[in-house]
Amino acid sequence: MTKDKNLKTTSDFYKERVSTGQKVSMINLGCARNTVDSQTIVSNLKRKGHLISDLENADVAIVNTCAFIDEAKKESIDMIADLLELKKEGKLKKVIVAGCLAQRYHKELAKEFDGIDAIIGAQKLDKNAIPSNTYLTPKHYAYVKISESCYNRCSFCIIPKIKGKFTSRTIESVVDEVRQLDEQGVKEINIIGQDITAYGMDLYHELSLARLLKEIVKVTQNIQWIRLLYAFPAHVTDELIDVMASEEKICKYIDVPLQHISDNLLLSMNRNITKQGTFDLMDKFRAKMPQGSLRTTFIVGMPGETEENFTELIQFVKDYRFEKVGTFLYSREEGTVAYDMADQVPDKIKRERMKQVMQIQQDISAEIQQSYIGRTLKVLIDEKQNEEGFYIGRSEYDAPEVDGIVYVGSDKVLKPGDFIDVKISDAYEYDLVGEVV
Ligand code: SF4
Repeated sequence: MTKDKNLKTTSDFYKERVSTGQKVSMINLGCARNTVDSQTIVSNLKRKGHLISDLENADVAIVNTCAFIDEAKKESIDMIADLLELKKEGKLKKVIVAGCLAQRYHKELAKEFDGIDAIIGAQKLDKNAIPSNTYLTPKHYAYVKISESCYNRCSFCIIPKIKGKFTSRTIESVVDEVRQLDEQGVKEINIIGQDITAYGMDLYHELSLARLLKEIVKVTQNIQWIRLLYAFPAHVTDELIDVMASEEKICKYIDVPLQHISDNLLLSMNRNITKQGTFDLMDKFRAKMPQGSLRTTFIVGMPGETEENFTELIQFVKDYRFEKVGTFLYSREEGTVAYDMADQVPDKIKRERMKQVMQIQQDISAEIQQSYIGRTLKVLIDEKQNEEGFYIGRSEYDAPEVDGIVYVGSDKVLKPGDFIDVKISDAYEYDLVGEVV
């Protein structure tokens, strides 16, 4: 991790930059992992007597940025520019930039933007951390981050360089947090990290997610859904699949970014798995959880991706019929191994390939969505009734904020956090519609 006197640590920042009593607005960009970091910042600020407010009434704005791909960087930079404009207009006193973009480009940000009051880098994770008691998510679900940074070194990815050393929290610390969430009445927890399946490699010297999950299940009463986000295929063990299949509370859903299927690409991406290994893993998942839902992502246009490699990917998407697929264009990131690779794929081809994958997946998704019609699903209500008279919820096959929703018709009054059985009567591209049974 970069050491630089201009880059503040979080404790410097609390001491120097925000006077007690100032109203602080936290703007969170990027993924759920950032949400957890923002929660920690907000918790610490509250503990030190600061008031948290919306942007309109704030003295200080903190933006937690993302630097994963170009699009995310642009969103972060636009937000910084907007906040500095508000400062110029006298509507804000201070603008603080935190997170991955700040860690990676702190020198450039300081040079390009006049008026940033502090730039704070990526946060370190204390493996025994006392859990944050401020959650930026609705009361009935939460993200539980079990590790920081990444154990892997995918050739296209800058995250491990930005985030530093891979660190797992202890089992005790995670279980304490889950117990606390359970006591607060939370109904669903989402286990997150860059690669949750590498959990424990640093602390316990073995893949320990299955063991952690067994301990988590023991302390849950209110929590009925435990969801696994961001698994690394090479680290998904048989034991983990068995625990998922046998523990009722673990959602039969996994977000497992596969990135590609061609052996050439899996090798150049440094994914530590082969095409056959990927087939075996998917087959095991389907065999143990036939009704389960698989979310994956693919990268198209990685350097050296030939037409033939791409055809393999298309075939794989057709054959394995994933419930949810996200596709990214390869983004050439300075400081990564792939940056200097030969045979960079022209942008136009990347875009065409992405379009092709998405078109194929669209038809598959539509068929899968139709297959839910007539089925009864357990649904967690996320939002109260909208103007059209529907409550908004999700089944265990949909993660909050990324997947689809279920529109629920009900004569009974429902509230966020309620679990109910819903008979599905209609299906859209991503969303379902149904009535309480
Ligand atoms: S698993 Fe690979 S792509 Fe994901 S964060 Fe780690 S290094 Fe990056």
